[in-house]
Amino acid sequence: MPEQYDLIVIGSGPGGYVGAIRAAQLGMKVAIVERDRLGGVCLNWGCIPTKALLRNAEVIALLRRGEEFGFSFDNLRIDFSAAVQRSEQAARKLSKGVEYLMKKNRVTVVPGEGLLAGTGRVRVTRNGQVTELSAARILLATGSRPRELPGVPIDGRRVITSTEALSLPAVPRSLLIIGAGAVGVEFADVYNAYGSGVTLIEMLPRLLPVEDAEISRFLEKILAKRGVTIRTGTRVEGVAVEGEQVRVQVAREEKRETLTGDVVLVAIGRIPNSEGLGLAEAGVKLDRGGFIAVNDRLETSGTGIHAIGDVVAGPLLAHRAMAEAIVAVEGMAGQDVRRTDPLKIPNCTYCSPQVASVGLTEEQAKEKGLQVKVGRFSLQASGKAVALGDTEGFVKVVAEAEYGEVLGLHIIGP
Ligand SMILES: Cc1cc2nc3c(=O)[nH]c(=O)nc-3n(C[C@H](O)[C@H](O)[C@H](O)COP(=O)(O)OP(=O)(O)OC[C@H]3O[C@@H](n4cnc5c(N)ncnc54)[C@H](O)[C@@H]3O)c2cc1C
Repeated sequence: MPEQYDLIVIGSGPGGYVGAIRAAQLGMKVAIVERDRLGGVCLNWGCIPTKALLRNAEVIALLRRGEEFGFSFDNLRIDFSAAVQRSEQAARKLSKGVEYLMKKNRVTVVPGEGLLAGTGRVRVTRNGQVTELSAARILLATGSRPRELPGVPIDGRRVITSTEALSLPAVPRSLLIIGAGAVGVEFADVYNAYGSGVTLIEMLPRLLPVEDAEISRFLEKILAKRGVTIRTGTRVEGVAVEGEQVRVQVAREEKRETLTGDVVLVAIGRIPNSEGLGLAEAGVKLDRGGFIAVNDRLETSGTGIHAIGDVVAGPLLAHRAMAEAIVAVEGMAGQDVRRTDPLKIPNCTYCSPQVASVGLTEEQAKEKGLQVKVGRFSLQASGKAVALGDTEGFVKVVAEAEYGEVLGLHIIGP
């Protein structure tokens, strides 16, 4: 007889573990299935280790400005391996924290690969051993993985994804980053601070394409001033490893050239982990791009099966996965809750200066035909920013002109 639960969660990232805890709080008997480390991408290979590396980058930048603050020293030595170690420690500590939370909330952790195996059934395989679990409800929180460039194999050494970029054995002399979304820009910041010659290559006309154009332009100027080479509106047509070098063929309009670097980081987005789960057999339909289709209660087309987080289309952010976990589980418990409007989910990029936003950009508001009024406040006039010595940045409010309803808020600054 399979072990019986009220809810089986597949995947223990910020979506899965928050869903498991909320379900336990609501009195359900819960199992969580995880094939790798507790905490998912966010804690182990995403948000947390990158934020730890970015903190190191901030400290270096501050040390380099030491004299402004009355500190002077000779021979500043910078050890990249210590930064990697610190970020791994942060990830391990938080993954342990999830393990503790599972125990505290009496959630059973089942290590192994989960697969839907008939209505209300999950088969878990680990080292050839198979366990069957059953439950009235199943929550799919299997997340996502890096998208690869067609025809460009990731070798983990010269051509890497964000996962390998977290623990390079040494700082590359030159780093070409393909994709200037949040992940690409954050790694550009880290490796620039550690002395790499960084080039950011972006197909769209600007960095952080989901952000307001003014914010993108401002950040572009700051990064360029720090020595990051920025190639926007530039298409990658091929990548070839030649000995210890990587050559990237790029095209901007009709002009073609070859860029050379020690390492190429492919940061062109992520794809959902929706294969190999037995979705078709369970009647779970997919959206475009392989994301699991859900309604506004996060129910899939499969009986008793919900899906949340990166495996569902929407902004690929940890706080979205967490918020959806709560909505999905409270919905299972009979509460009348709905998925958050994607427009109300804040965006974040933790480069320096940091970028945050919520709602419509000025361009999006205008495209909707709205009469727009814009307010700007420069951090040069912010007392806190002046006291910090970090006045690069501004706040921009996009409002509807007639009634002043706030449509979007955009910040770049410390
Ligand atoms: C470099 C980087 C930096 C990021 N920084 C931020 C940030 O600063 N802020 C932010 O909000 N977001 C950030 N993100 C995004 C964030 O990591 C994701 O949005 C978040 O992890 C999604 O959570 P999730 O629970 O949906 O899935 P995931 O965290 O991807 O977890 C899914 C889990 O499911 C497991 N799994 C998959 N299939 C199976 C199976 N069949 N059986 C068992 N287990 C399975 C996986 O092993 C994994 O542990 C970052 C991402 C990256 C890559």
